Amino acid sequence: MMICPNCEEHIVLEDYENTSPFQCEHCKTWLELEIDESTYLGAKQTALRIVDDQDLGEV
Ligand SMILES: [Zn+2]
Repeated sequence: MMICPNCEEHIVLEDYENTSPFQCEHCKTWLELEIDESTYLGAKQTALRIVDDQDLGEV
């Protein structure tokens, strides 16, 4: 379970490896999953980040 960084609603992700942009079902903001594998704990840290419209290009 993740939290939308824009509207703070809960988002259920089916695939925590999928980093392609998707829209929050609540606020329609484009989000993408950011995976940080460089943590010393060994566990992958995942976070949602808001995608700038400019980054999306042609959709
Ligand atoms: Zn949202």
